[in-house]
Amino acid sequence: MLLRILIFMIVIMGIGAHTDDAFRQAQPTERPFQPVNLPTATPAPQVCPELENPYPQHTVVADINYLAHTVWVQQRIRYANTTGESLTQLVFNIEANRWQNVFFLNRVADNFDDLLYTLNNKRLVVDLMDPLPPNCVTNILLEFQIQVPLIGLEVYSPKGYLGYTDRQMNLGHWLPTVAPYQNGEWVTRPPVLVGEQEILEIADWVVMLNLVEPPPNLVVAAPGQITQISPTSWRYEHHASREFSLSLSDQFVLHQAEDEHGVQVEVYCFNTPELQPAGEHALDVATQSLSVYSDLFGQYPYERLVVVQGDFPDGMEFSGIVYVGDAWFTRWDGTPTSYLTLITAHEVSHQWWYARVGNDAAFHPWLDEALATYSEYVYLEEYYPDLRDWWWAFRVDVYEPEGAVNSTVYEFSSAREYINAVYLRGVRMLHELRQDLGTQAFFQLLADYAFNQADRIASPDDFWHNFTPEQLELTAVTRSRYLRPETNN
Ligand SMILES: [Zn+2]
Repeated sequence: MLLRILIFMIVIMGIGAHTDDAFRQAQPTERPFQPVNLPTATPAPQVCPELENPYPQHTVVADINYLAHTVWVQQRIRYANTTGESLTQLVFNIEANRWQNVFFLNRVADNFDDLLYTLNNKRLVVDLMDPLPPNCVTNILLEFQIQVPLIGLEVYSPKGYLGYTDRQMNLGHWLPTVAPYQNGEWVTRPPVLVGEQEILEIADWVVMLNLVEPPPNLVVAAPGQITQISPTSWRYEHHASREFSLSLSDQFVLHQAEDEHGVQVEVYCFNTPELQPAGEHALDVATQSLSVYSDLFGQYPYERLVVVQGDFPDGMEFSGIVYVGDAWFTRWDGTPTSYLTLITAHEVSHQWWYARVGNDAAFHPWLDEALATYSEYVYLEEYYPDLRDWWWAFRVDVYEPEGAVNSTVYEFSSAREYINAVYLRGVRMLHELRQDLGTQAFFQLLADYAFNQADRIASPDDFWHNFTPEQLELTAVTRSRYLRPETNN
């Protein structure tokens, strides 16, 4: 507890003023619903208002057929051109289209007309009818179907955040996002099986979910503010979020509690009786870790945090919702020395290192993964300080990790090699930085980084920029030991 009180005071004083085809083959089905009718009168499709909110505004209507594993989607995107340049195209990243026979695009339109486009793997390039001047806004409509794939096996299985089993449907990275525009380029990172390749701007999401002929007891686990519209439809508002993700099951049991700051924490696990103690443990860890990280890294931005027992390995982070793998629940032995403890804390910390502070998950994965893994240790320091040595031995040292912390995901042939370099040597680097600087200064740097880069896509330069020249000097040996010297990022 001492660590957190100490650091909390520092934070208050410091910033308190404020293509793979393993998935089953599928074909699109007939759409059972009426398509959107576009208006035929004025106003002009592009407007140039005062840009109160420059983030993309997504308005989504999704008809989900859980038993047929299909989702029909109409997604409207209000895009404000903050690039400073006149744009003739808009580019979207569509993670779902990295898989064959999953994403079926029916239509792209603006307020008036169907638009020409090319869709190549993850990248959708839309030709605008007229150039979009700086500071002007346009609206794009995407109509598409998702044929949710069966969760794959072996190396494909960690991608089960978009997939179904006989007891769960997961919709993660199912909706297109506007590609970031950096240095005159729309950024799309090629998909590979090791690590993640998303690069996501903050956006606002309003999502209407309609359940089509749902089975009894179907439960939706989704983040944001919820309004029930009918017995089978809900409206979710999720602001300042990098995506909108959800999970459905007809076998969910909900465990819930409030953290110290009044955030509602919800754990959805499967309904077999022997799993419920694990569900309670995950709830304890999620609630405690959310409080610790809020004190150390800054306020959690949402009213709710959703944790889902995912029917796929390991875990996965999204904004306001995270997955913790099924095996960590079923193998839990009733003690804190478990992956259920570590992965729950890890995924919760991604609410800061991924969701609040974004990063390029393909080129700079250490920025979120090293910090999330080190956050496991920070959680144990607070609640289970006797387990600190166990954590280093169990989580890190046994793997004898090698490799540059600042590697990209494209440099590894296996997840193990990737985790060893980026996560595990990453936590060793962070711990040595802490020893170089002292605990107070180290956590102040993390809090400053989280504050300064909130709602942005941070680069390694943004991380190191918080260090004073003296702190860079103090950490020079550590940095050179862990970071590839030619880039030093
Ligand atoms: Zn992670």
